[in-house]
Amino acid sequence: MSENINYLTTIGLEVHVQLKTKTKIFCGCSVDSESEPNTNVCPVCLGYPGALPALNETVVKYGIMTGLMIGSKINRYSKFDRKSYFYPDMSKNFQTSQFDLPICEGGSIDIELEDGTRKSIGITRIHLEENAAKNFHLVKMSGVDFNRAGTPLIEVVTEPEIESPEEAYAFLQAIRQIVVYTGVSDCNLELGQLRCDVNCSVRPEGQVKLGERTEMKNLNTFKGIYNALQYEIERQKDVLRSGGTVSQETRRWDPDAGITTVMRTKEDAHDYRYLPEPDLMPMVFDDEYLEELRSSLPELPAKRRERFVVAYSLPAYDAGVLVAEKPIADYFEAAAKLSKNPKLVSNYMMTEMLRILSETEKDISEVTMTPEALAKLSNLVDAKTINSNTAKKVFDILFNEGGDPEKIVNENGWAQVSDTGAIEGFVDEAIAANPKSVEDYKAGKVAAIKFLVGQVMRFSKGKANPQLAESLLLEKLQ
Ligand code: ADP
Ligand code: ZN
Ligand code: MG
Repeated sequence: MSENINYLTTIGLEVHVQLKTKTKIFCGCSVDSESEPNTNVCPVCLGYPGALPALNETVVKYGIMTGLMIGSKINRYSKFDRKSYFYPDMSKNFQTSQFDLPICEGGSIDIELEDGTRKSIGITRIHLEENAAKNFHLVKMSGVDFNRAGTPLIEVVTEPEIESPEEAYAFLQAIRQIVVYTGVSDCNLELGQLRCDVNCSVRPEGQVKLGERTEMKNLNTFKGIYNALQYEIERQKDVLRSGGTVSQETRRWDPDAGITTVMRTKEDAHDYRYLPEPDLMPMVFDDEYLEELRSSLPELPAKRRERFVVAYSLPAYDAGVLVAEKPIADYFEAAAKLSKNPKLVSNYMMTEMLRILSETEKDISEVTMTPEALAKLSNLVDAKTINSNTAKKVFDILFNEGGDPEKIVNENGWAQVSDTGAIEGFVDEAIAANPKSVEDYKAGKVAAIKFLVGQVMRFSKGKANPQLAESLLLEKLQ
C-alpha cells in the first residue's frame, strides 16, 4: 500500500568556507597549506592552557562582507563562544565558535537549476570559527597536523529549504561563486577550503512537519555531496516504505562503496555546553564601519549577469558564462565599454579568449592583450575594416604578443578591401577562372556561389569583404 506514497525531500547545509587570510584567526601563524606538518604553530593554535587568542580583523571583515553580499542582517553586537568537544584534532577540548550571537543572521542565496528554474534559499546564519587540526593516518600510527588548527572559517547555515540533490549542487556552486567573487575565499576544494555538513530528511507528501533528519559530516566535493544525498534520500524512503522510522543520527558517506553508514546517534542536539569565550572581547560594529565594507563590495554575479544582458544586449547564456569568473567579467566589461559593438567583444571572449585560455592553461590576468586592444579589434570588425578571418589572425597575435590591432592590420596590409571597383576585379577573375561553377550556379546549384565567394577571397588574399563579394557575384551572374 505504501509503495504509492510520494515523498518530499528536505535538505539543509552547513557550509564551512576557509577565508583567504595570511594568518590564522586567533594568532599570527601562517595559514600556508604547503608547509611541513606542525611548523605553522604556536601556543595559541596548539591549544596550550593559558595561551591567549587575539582576533584577526580580516576574518571579521570577510565574515561581514559575505553577509552583506547575501543580504544578511549584521549583528551590531556579536561574540565568540566555546563549543565543547573531545577530539584529538581539538586539543583545547573546545572549538572557539559563535553560538547565540553570530556575526550575521538571515539573508538568502539565489540558485539556478540546469533547466533554468530559479529559487532563493534562505540563510539562517553565518558565524566565525576556528578550524580544527587535521588527523592523518599512517600504517601503524596516526598523527595530528596543527598547521590547520586555527585557520579561519565562516560557517554558512541554510534553512531547510533545499529540495533535491540538484538544488544542493546549485547552491554550492552559487555560494562558491559569491565568496570567490567577494575575494574572501579561494574555495579550493582540493585544499579542503569548502567542507559541508549535509542534513536531509524525507516525509510523505501532505505532511507539514519535516521528517527526522540524518547528517553527513565533512563532505568536501560537490559530486560527493550530490551522490551522498541521492543515496541517503532513497535509503530514508526505503526505511519509511517498509514501515520503519528514520532516527536522527550522524552517518558516514563512503564514496567508494557509494553508501552511508551510521557513525553516531545524537541523543541530544545541544550537548556542546556552549559558554561565552572569556578570552575574547565581544565585537561591536558601528554604521560607519559597515558602510565602509558595503561600499567595497563587488556586484553579485547574478545581478551582473542581468545587467550584462540589458547593457550589452547579450544572450542570457553568454552573460552567464562571462560573469562566472570575476576576472573574466571585469576584462569583458572593460573592453565592452570601449567598444562600439559589445556583442562582438562578447563573441571574441566566448569563442577565442576562453578557448585559448583553456588550451594554454593561462589565467586571464597573465594575458598580454589588453581590454583596449580587444575593443579596438572589435571596432575594426564592426567598421568592416577587417573581416572575421583576419580578426582571428589578429586576435592570435594580440594574445601571444600583445600590441595594437590597427598597427598589426596596417603593417600586414590586412585591411579588408571594401572598394567595389577593386573587388569587381577579383570577381571577374573568379568568374573567368571557374566556368564550371558559373554553369552550376546558373543551372540552379545555389551552393556554387559559396565556392565562387571563396575564390574571390583567394584572389584578394583574404582581404575582400565577403558580403560585398557575394552581392557583386550575384549581380554579375544574373
Ligand atoms: P545542528 O546545529 O544540531 O546541526 P541545526 O538545527 O542548526 O542543527 O540544523 C542544521 C542544519 O540542518 C540546518 O541547515 C537546517 O536547515 C537543517 N535541518 C534542520 N532540520 C532538518 C530536517 N528535518 N530535514 C532536513 N534538514 C534539516
Ligand atoms: Zn598559532
Ligand atoms: Mg550540524
